[in-house]
Amino acid sequence: MIKTPVYMDYHATTPVDKRVLDAMMPFFTEHFGNAASLQHRFGWIAKEAVEIARKKIAKAINVQPREIIFTSGATESNNLALKGVAHSLRSKGNHIITTQIEHKCVLESCKSLETEGFRITILPVDKTGKVNVEDVKNAITDSTIIVSVMFANNEIGTIQPIAEIGKLCAEKGIVFHTDATQGVGRIPIDVEAMNIHLLSFASHKMYGPKGVGALYVRSRNPRIAIEAQMNGAGHEHNLRSGTLNVAGIVGFGTAVQIAMDEMEEENIRLFRLRNRLQEKLLKLEKTTPNGHATERLPNNLNITFHNINSDQLMTEMNDVAVSAGSACTSEEIGEVQYSHVLHAIGLDQEAGRSTIRFGLGRFTSEEEVDYVAERINTVISKLRTFSAVGV
Ligand SMILES: *Cc1c(COP(=O)(O)O)cnc(C)c1O
Repeated sequence: MIKTPVYMDYHATTPVDKRVLDAMMPFFTEHFGNAASLQHRFGWIAKEAVEIARKKIAKAINVQPREIIFTSGATESNNLALKGVAHSLRSKGNHIITTQIEHKCVLESCKSLETEGFRITILPVDKTGKVNVEDVKNAITDSTIIVSVMFANNEIGTIQPIAEIGKLCAEKGIVFHTDATQGVGRIPIDVEAMNIHLLSFASHKMYGPKGVGALYVRSRNPRIAIEAQMNGAGHEHNLRSGTLNVAGIVGFGTAVQIAMDEMEEENIRLFRLRNRLQEKLLKLEKTTPNGHATERLPNNLNITFHNINSDQLMTEMNDVAVSAGSACTSEEIGEVQYSHVLHAIGLDQEAGRSTIRFGLGRFTSEEEVDYVAERINTVISKLRTFSAVGV
Protein backbone atom coordinates (compact mmCIF):
# COMPACT_ATOMS: atom_id res chain seq x y z
CA MET A 1 0.00 0.00 0.00
CA ILE A 2 1.27 3.46 -0.81
CA LYS A 3 0.58 6.57 1.21
CA THR A 4 -1.92 9.01 -0.32
CA PRO A 5 -2.20 11.72 -1.42
CA VAL A 6 0.65 11.12 -3.83
CA TYR A 7 2.71 14.25 -4.46
CA MET A 8 3.57 14.75 -8.12
CA ASP A 9 3.91 18.52 -8.27
CA TYR A 10 7.66 18.96 -7.70
CA HIS A 11 7.86 21.94 -10.09
CA ALA A 12 5.67 23.94 -7.72
CA THR A 13 7.73 23.18 -4.63
CA THR A 14 9.59 20.34 -2.93
CA PRO A 15 9.62 19.04 0.64
CA VAL A 16 12.64 19.96 2.76
CA ASP A 17 15.11 17.07 2.76
CA LYS A 18 15.65 15.77 6.34
CA ARG A 19 19.40 16.34 5.97
CA VAL A 20 18.66 19.98 5.13
CA LEU A 21 16.38 20.38 8.12
CA ASP A 22 19.02 18.89 10.43
CA ALA A 23 21.57 21.41 9.20
CA MET A 24 19.14 24.30 9.74
CA MET A 25 17.87 23.49 13.24
CA PRO A 26 20.73 24.92 15.37
CA PHE A 27 20.36 28.26 13.60
CA PHE A 28 16.87 28.79 14.96
CA THR A 29 17.91 28.30 18.57
CA GLU A 30 21.46 28.32 19.95
CA HIS A 31 23.00 29.96 16.86
CA PHE A 32 20.32 32.61 16.42
CA GLY A 33 22.72 35.49 15.83
CA ASN A 34 22.35 38.25 13.26
CA ALA A 35 24.93 37.71 10.51
CA ALA A 36 25.50 41.48 10.46
CA SER A 37 26.30 41.73 14.22
CA LEU A 38 30.04 41.49 13.94
CA GLN A 39 30.91 42.67 17.46
CA HIS A 40 30.27 39.31 19.12
CA ARG A 41 30.37 35.57 18.78
CA PHE A 42 26.63 35.16 18.02
CA GLY A 43 27.05 37.28 14.93
CA TRP A 44 30.33 35.64 13.92
CA ILE A 45 28.82 32.16 14.04
CA ALA A 46 25.84 33.23 11.91
CA LYS A 47 28.08 35.10 9.48
CA GLU A 48 30.41 32.11 9.11
CA ALA A 49 27.48 29.76 8.40
CA VAL A 50 26.12 32.16 5.76
CA GLU A 51 29.52 32.38 4.07
CA ILE A 52 29.92 28.59 4.02
CA ALA A 53 26.48 28.31 2.34
CA ARG A 54 27.39 31.09 -0.10
CA LYS A 55 30.52 29.16 -1.11
CA LYS A 56 28.59 25.95 -1.74
CA ILE A 57 26.00 27.79 -3.81
CA ALA A 58 28.63 29.67 -5.83
CA LYS A 59 30.55 26.47 -6.54
CA ALA A 60 27.42 24.75 -7.85
CA ILE A 61 27.13 27.24 -10.73
CA ASN A 62 30.89 27.95 -11.08
CA VAL A 63 30.99 31.56 -9.82
CA GLN A 64 32.67 33.51 -7.00
CA PRO A 65 30.95 33.57 -3.57
CA ARG A 66 30.81 37.39 -3.55
CA GLU A 67 28.70 37.25 -6.72
CA ILE A 68 25.82 35.54 -4.87
CA ILE A 69 23.16 37.89 -3.43
CA PHE A 70 20.66 36.27 -1.07
CA THR A 71 16.98 37.16 -1.57
CA SER A 72 13.61 35.82 -0.48
CA GLY A 73 13.20 33.62 -3.57
CA ALA A 74 13.19 33.55 -7.33
CA THR A 75 10.38 36.11 -7.65
CA GLU A 76 12.47 38.67 -5.81
CA SER A 77 15.64 37.68 -7.69
CA ASN A 78 13.91 38.16 -11.04
CA ASN A 79 12.47 41.52 -9.98
CA LEU A 80 15.89 42.64 -8.72
CA ALA A 81 17.66 41.50 -11.88
CA LEU A 82 15.27 43.06 -14.38
CA LYS A 83 14.39 46.29 -12.58
CA GLY A 84 17.92 46.57 -11.20
CA VAL A 85 19.53 46.46 -14.64
CA ALA A 86 16.83 48.54 -16.32
CA HIS A 87 17.21 51.32 -13.77
CA SER A 88 20.99 51.27 -13.83
CA LEU A 89 21.23 51.28 -17.64
CA ARG A 90 18.39 53.70 -18.30
CA SER A 91 20.74 56.25 -19.89
CA LYS A 92 22.11 53.58 -22.24
CA GLY A 93 18.83 52.26 -23.64
CA ASN A 94 15.26 51.30 -22.90
CA HIS A 95 14.70 48.03 -24.74
CA ILE A 96 14.24 44.65 -23.03
CA ILE A 97 13.89 41.27 -24.76
CA THR A 98 12.18 38.30 -23.11
CA THR A 99 9.97 35.35 -24.12
CA GLN A 100 6.34 34.29 -23.98
CA ILE A 101 7.00 31.32 -21.71
CA GLU A 102 8.67 33.10 -18.81
CA HIS A 103 7.36 32.79 -15.28
CA LYS A 104 4.79 35.47 -14.42
CA CYS A 105 7.26 37.26 -12.16
CA VAL A 106 9.49 37.99 -15.17
CA LEU A 107 6.61 38.98 -17.45
CA GLU A 108 5.00 41.16 -14.77
CA SER A 109 8.33 42.84 -13.93
CA CYS A 110 8.64 43.69 -17.63
CA LYS A 111 5.07 44.99 -17.68
CA SER A 112 5.86 47.21 -14.73
CA LEU A 113 8.98 48.52 -16.50
CA GLU A 114 6.85 49.22 -19.56
CA THR A 115 4.82 51.71 -17.53
CA GLU A 116 8.10 53.49 -16.74
CA GLY A 117 8.85 53.93 -20.44
CA PHE A 118 10.83 50.79 -21.20
CA ARG A 119 10.03 48.96 -24.45
CA ILE A 120 9.53 45.19 -24.17
CA THR A 121 9.86 42.61 -26.96
CA ILE A 122 8.29 39.28 -26.05
CA LEU A 123 9.63 36.57 -28.34
CA PRO A 124 7.53 33.58 -29.40
CA VAL A 125 8.65 29.96 -29.00
CA ASP A 126 8.20 26.96 -31.28
CA LYS A 127 5.82 24.04 -30.66
CA THR A 128 8.34 22.40 -28.33
CA GLY A 129 8.66 25.57 -26.27
CA LYS A 130 12.09 26.52 -27.58
CA VAL A 131 13.27 30.04 -28.31
CA ASN A 132 15.00 30.53 -31.67
CA VAL A 133 18.42 32.14 -31.20
CA GLU A 134 18.01 33.89 -34.58
CA ASP A 135 14.84 35.56 -33.23
CA VAL A 136 16.83 36.89 -30.28
CA LYS A 137 19.50 38.17 -32.66
CA ASN A 138 16.97 39.88 -34.91
CA ALA A 139 15.19 41.52 -31.98
CA ILE A 140 18.34 43.22 -30.70
CA THR A 141 18.53 46.96 -31.44
CA ASP A 142 20.93 49.75 -30.45
CA SER A 143 18.75 50.47 -27.44
CA THR A 144 18.59 46.87 -26.13
CA ILE A 145 19.94 46.68 -22.58
CA ILE A 146 18.89 43.24 -21.35
CA VAL A 147 17.87 39.84 -22.68
CA SER A 148 16.03 37.56 -20.23
CA VAL A 149 15.40 33.93 -21.20
CA MET A 150 14.57 31.23 -18.66
CA PHE A 151 16.83 28.18 -18.33
CA ALA A 152 14.13 25.51 -18.16
CA ASN A 153 10.39 25.94 -18.20
CA ASN A 154 8.37 25.13 -15.09
CA GLU A 155 5.34 23.79 -16.99
CA ILE A 156 6.64 21.88 -20.00
CA GLY A 157 10.25 21.41 -18.89
CA THR A 158 11.82 22.62 -22.16
CA ILE A 159 15.48 23.58 -21.76
CA GLN A 160 16.55 26.67 -23.70
CA PRO A 161 19.74 27.15 -25.78
CA ILE A 162 21.24 29.25 -22.98
CA ALA A 163 24.90 28.93 -24.01
CA GLU A 164 24.10 30.15 -27.54
CA ILE A 165 22.04 33.10 -26.30
CA GLY A 166 24.79 33.90 -23.79
CA LYS A 167 27.38 33.93 -26.54
CA LEU A 168 25.24 36.21 -28.68
CA CYS A 169 24.67 38.67 -25.83
CA ALA A 170 28.38 38.68 -24.96
CA GLU A 171 29.22 39.55 -28.58
CA LYS A 172 26.67 42.35 -28.64
CA GLY A 173 27.56 43.69 -25.19
CA ILE A 174 24.06 43.14 -23.81
CA VAL A 175 23.26 41.99 -20.28
CA PHE A 176 21.97 38.41 -20.23
CA HIS A 177 19.71 37.24 -17.40
CA THR A 178 18.29 33.75 -16.97
CA ASP A 179 15.65 32.51 -14.55
CA ALA A 180 17.24 29.16 -13.66
CA THR A 181 14.84 28.27 -10.85
CA GLN A 182 13.99 24.91 -12.42
CA GLY A 183 17.56 24.35 -13.54
CA VAL A 184 19.91 24.82 -10.59
CA GLY A 185 20.38 21.56 -8.71
CA ARG A 186 18.57 19.61 -11.44
CA ILE A 187 20.78 19.94 -14.50
CA PRO A 188 24.41 21.08 -14.84
CA ILE A 189 24.85 24.86 -15.16
CA ASP A 190 28.15 26.58 -15.81
CA VAL A 191 27.69 30.35 -15.65
CA GLU A 192 31.21 31.01 -16.97
CA ALA A 193 30.94 28.71 -19.97
CA MET A 194 27.42 29.90 -20.77
CA ASN A 195 28.23 33.65 -20.61
CA ILE A 196 25.47 34.34 -18.10
CA HIS A 197 25.49 37.76 -16.37
CA LEU A 198 22.59 37.35 -13.96
CA LEU A 199 20.93 34.15 -12.78
CA SER A 200 17.94 33.68 -10.46
CA PHE A 201 17.07 30.62 -8.40
CA ALA A 202 15.30 29.50 -5.25
CA SER A 203 15.91 27.02 -2.45
CA HIS A 204 12.43 25.50 -2.22
CA LYS A 205 12.59 24.00 -5.72
CA MET A 206 15.57 21.83 -4.67
CA TYR A 207 14.55 20.39 -1.28
CA GLY A 208 15.52 23.47 0.70
CA PRO A 209 13.22 25.77 2.70
CA LYS A 210 10.79 28.31 1.22
CA GLY A 211 11.45 32.03 1.46
CA VAL A 212 15.10 32.01 0.43
CA GLY A 213 16.68 32.40 -2.98
CA ALA A 214 19.62 33.98 -4.71
CA LEU A 215 20.63 36.20 -7.57
CA TYR A 216 24.02 35.71 -9.17
CA VAL A 217 25.42 39.07 -10.30
CA ARG A 218 28.58 38.96 -12.43
CA SER A 219 31.37 41.04 -10.90
CA ARG A 220 33.89 41.02 -13.74
CA ASN A 221 34.18 40.50 -17.55
CA PRO A 222 31.93 42.50 -17.50
CA ARG A 223 30.89 43.81 -14.10
CA ILE A 224 27.10 44.09 -14.05
CA ALA A 225 25.73 47.10 -12.22
CA ILE A 226 22.25 46.77 -10.76
CA GLU A 227 20.24 49.22 -8.72
CA ALA A 228 18.96 47.96 -5.36
CA GLN A 229 15.19 47.49 -5.08
CA MET A 230 15.27 47.17 -1.30
CA ASN A 231 16.93 50.02 0.53
CA GLY A 232 18.20 49.78 4.07
CA ALA A 233 21.32 49.08 6.07
CA GLY A 234 23.33 47.95 3.08
CA HIS A 235 23.45 44.16 3.35
CA GLU A 236 24.62 42.02 0.42
CA HIS A 237 26.95 44.69 -1.08
CA ASN A 238 24.13 47.22 -0.75
CA LEU A 239 22.07 45.32 -3.34
CA ARG A 240 19.56 43.73 -0.98
CA SER A 241 19.17 45.17 2.48
CA GLY A 242 17.50 43.31 5.29
CA THR A 243 18.63 40.89 8.01
CA LEU A 244 19.69 37.64 6.39
CA ASN A 245 17.55 34.54 6.81
CA VAL A 246 20.43 32.62 8.37
CA ALA A 247 18.70 29.27 8.95
CA GLY A 248 17.15 29.45 5.50
CA ILE A 249 20.48 30.23 3.87
CA VAL A 250 22.17 27.36 5.74
CA GLY A 251 19.40 25.06 4.47
CA PHE A 252 19.75 26.44 0.95
CA GLY A 253 23.51 25.72 1.01
CA THR A 254 23.01 22.17 2.24
CA ALA A 255 20.23 21.58 -0.30
CA VAL A 256 22.43 22.76 -3.17
CA GLN A 257 25.31 20.58 -2.05
CA ILE A 258 23.11 17.47 -1.82
CA ALA A 259 21.54 18.25 -5.19
CA MET A 260 24.96 18.58 -6.82
CA ASP A 261 26.42 15.48 -5.16
CA GLU A 262 23.44 13.34 -6.13
CA MET A 263 22.38 14.94 -9.40
CA GLU A 264 23.70 12.30 -11.76
CA GLU A 265 22.29 9.36 -9.86
CA GLU A 266 19.00 11.10 -9.14
CA ASN A 267 18.51 12.09 -12.76
CA ILE A 268 19.02 8.54 -14.00
CA ARG A 269 16.31 7.42 -11.57
CA LEU A 270 13.94 10.30 -12.39
CA PHE A 271 14.43 9.85 -16.11
CA ARG A 272 13.48 6.18 -15.84
CA LEU A 273 10.42 6.89 -13.66
CA ARG A 274 9.27 9.78 -15.86
CA ASN A 275 9.58 7.65 -18.99
CA ARG A 276 7.69 4.84 -17.31
CA LEU A 277 4.82 7.21 -16.51
CA GLN A 278 4.98 8.75 -19.98
CA GLU A 279 4.79 5.37 -21.70
CA LYS A 280 1.81 4.31 -19.62
CA LEU A 281 -0.11 7.54 -20.13
CA LEU A 282 0.57 7.86 -23.84
CA LYS A 283 -0.93 4.42 -24.33
CA LEU A 284 -4.30 6.01 -23.56
CA GLU A 285 -6.28 7.24 -26.51
CA LYS A 286 -6.20 10.91 -27.52
CA THR A 287 -3.21 11.96 -25.43
CA THR A 288 -0.35 14.13 -26.60
CA PRO A 289 2.86 15.04 -24.77
CA ASN A 290 3.94 18.70 -24.56
CA GLY A 291 7.42 20.18 -24.41
CA HIS A 292 10.60 19.09 -26.12
CA ALA A 293 11.09 15.33 -26.64
CA THR A 294 14.69 15.29 -25.44
CA GLU A 295 15.77 18.75 -24.28
CA ARG A 296 13.49 18.62 -21.29
CA LEU A 297 13.88 18.40 -17.51
CA PRO A 298 14.17 14.72 -16.55
CA ASN A 299 11.41 15.03 -13.94
CA ASN A 300 8.85 16.76 -16.17
CA LEU A 301 5.86 15.29 -17.93
CA ASN A 302 3.14 17.47 -19.43
CA ILE A 303 0.27 15.77 -21.22
CA THR A 304 -2.91 16.89 -22.95
CA PHE A 305 -5.82 14.49 -22.42
CA HIS A 306 -8.07 15.63 -25.26
CA ASN A 307 -11.75 16.17 -24.46
CA ILE A 308 -11.07 15.88 -20.75
CA ASN A 309 -11.35 18.90 -18.52
CA SER A 310 -8.24 18.87 -16.34
CA ASP A 311 -10.00 20.49 -13.37
CA GLN A 312 -12.62 17.76 -13.50
CA LEU A 313 -9.89 15.15 -13.78
CA MET A 314 -8.15 16.51 -10.71
CA THR A 315 -11.41 16.60 -8.76
CA GLU A 316 -12.02 12.94 -9.57
CA MET A 317 -8.43 12.14 -8.67
CA ASN A 318 -8.06 14.05 -5.41
CA ASP A 319 -5.60 11.55 -3.95
CA VAL A 320 -2.98 12.64 -6.48
CA ALA A 321 -1.41 16.11 -6.38
CA VAL A 322 -0.66 17.34 -9.89
CA SER A 323 -1.10 20.68 -11.61
CA ALA A 324 -3.56 21.71 -14.31
CA GLY A 325 -2.90 23.77 -17.41
CA SER A 326 -5.60 26.18 -16.42
CA ALA A 327 -5.20 29.06 -14.07
CA CYS A 328 -7.90 31.21 -12.56
CA THR A 329 -6.49 34.67 -11.97
CA SER A 330 -8.06 36.91 -9.39
CA GLU A 331 -8.43 39.85 -11.78
CA GLU A 332 -10.67 37.86 -14.07
CA ILE A 333 -12.94 36.28 -11.52
CA GLY A 334 -14.94 33.44 -12.91
CA GLU A 335 -13.20 33.50 -16.23
CA VAL A 336 -10.96 30.45 -16.33
CA GLN A 337 -7.93 31.21 -18.41
CA TYR A 338 -5.39 28.70 -19.53
CA SER A 339 -1.68 28.77 -19.12
CA HIS A 340 0.23 31.37 -21.14
CA VAL A 341 2.92 28.73 -21.71
CA LEU A 342 0.49 26.26 -23.31
CA HIS A 343 -0.90 29.13 -25.37
CA ALA A 344 2.63 30.01 -26.52
CA ILE A 345 3.30 26.47 -27.81
CA GLY A 346 0.12 26.59 -29.85
CA LEU A 347 -2.46 24.82 -27.69
CA ASP A 348 -5.95 26.25 -28.03
CA GLN A 349 -8.18 26.89 -25.03
CA GLU A 350 -9.77 23.44 -25.31
CA ALA A 351 -6.40 21.64 -25.29
CA GLY A 352 -4.99 24.00 -22.68
CA ARG A 353 -7.81 23.14 -20.31
CA SER A 354 -7.22 19.44 -20.88
CA THR A 355 -3.60 19.47 -19.83
CA ILE A 356 -1.91 18.10 -16.74
CA ARG A 357 1.62 18.67 -15.48
CA PHE A 358 3.32 15.84 -13.60
CA GLY A 359 6.43 16.76 -11.65
CA LEU A 360 8.45 13.89 -10.24
CA GLY A 361 11.07 14.25 -7.56
CA ARG A 362 13.50 12.83 -5.04
CA PHE A 363 10.84 10.98 -3.07
CA THR A 364 8.78 9.66 -6.00
CA SER A 365 8.69 5.84 -6.08
CA GLU A 366 7.95 3.41 -8.86
CA GLU A 367 4.85 2.31 -6.93
CA GLU A 368 3.61 5.90 -6.94
CA VAL A 369 4.19 6.18 -10.68
CA ASP A 370 2.20 3.01 -11.29
CA TYR A 371 -0.55 4.16 -8.93
CA VAL A 372 -0.90 7.54 -10.66
CA ALA A 373 -0.96 5.91 -14.11
CA GLU A 374 -3.67 3.53 -12.94
CA ARG A 375 -5.74 6.32 -11.36
CA ILE A 376 -5.51 8.45 -14.51
CA ASN A 377 -6.53 5.47 -16.60
CA THR A 378 -9.61 4.80 -14.46
CA VAL A 379 -10.70 8.42 -14.20
CA ILE A 380 -10.21 9.12 -17.90
CA SER A 381 -12.25 6.14 -19.03
CA LYS A 382 -14.98 7.13 -16.59
CA LEU A 383 -15.03 10.75 -17.81
CA ARG A 384 -14.91 9.71 -21.46
CA THR A 385 -17.79 7.25 -20.97
CA PHE A 386 -19.85 9.97 -19.32
CA SER A 387 -19.20 12.48 -22.08
CA ALA A 388 -19.90 9.80 -24.74
CA VAL A 389 -23.39 9.22 -23.36
CA GLY A 390 -23.92 12.94 -22.92
CA VAL A 391 -24.13 13.00 -19.13
C1 LIG B 1 8.89 28.68 -8.81
C2 LIG B 1 9.43 29.53 -9.87
C3 LIG B 1 9.59 30.92 -9.70
C4 LIG B 1 9.14 31.63 -8.45
O1 LIG B 1 9.95 31.25 -7.36
P1 LIG B 1 9.63 31.71 -5.87
O2 LIG B 1 10.82 31.29 -5.08
O3 LIG B 1 8.41 30.96 -5.48
O4 LIG B 1 9.44 33.17 -5.85
C5 LIG B 1 10.14 31.65 -10.74
N1 LIG B 1 10.52 31.06 -11.87
C6 LIG B 1 10.40 29.74 -12.08
C7 LIG B 1 10.84 29.14 -13.37
C8 LIG B 1 9.85 28.93 -11.09
O5 LIG B 1 9.72 27.62 -11.31
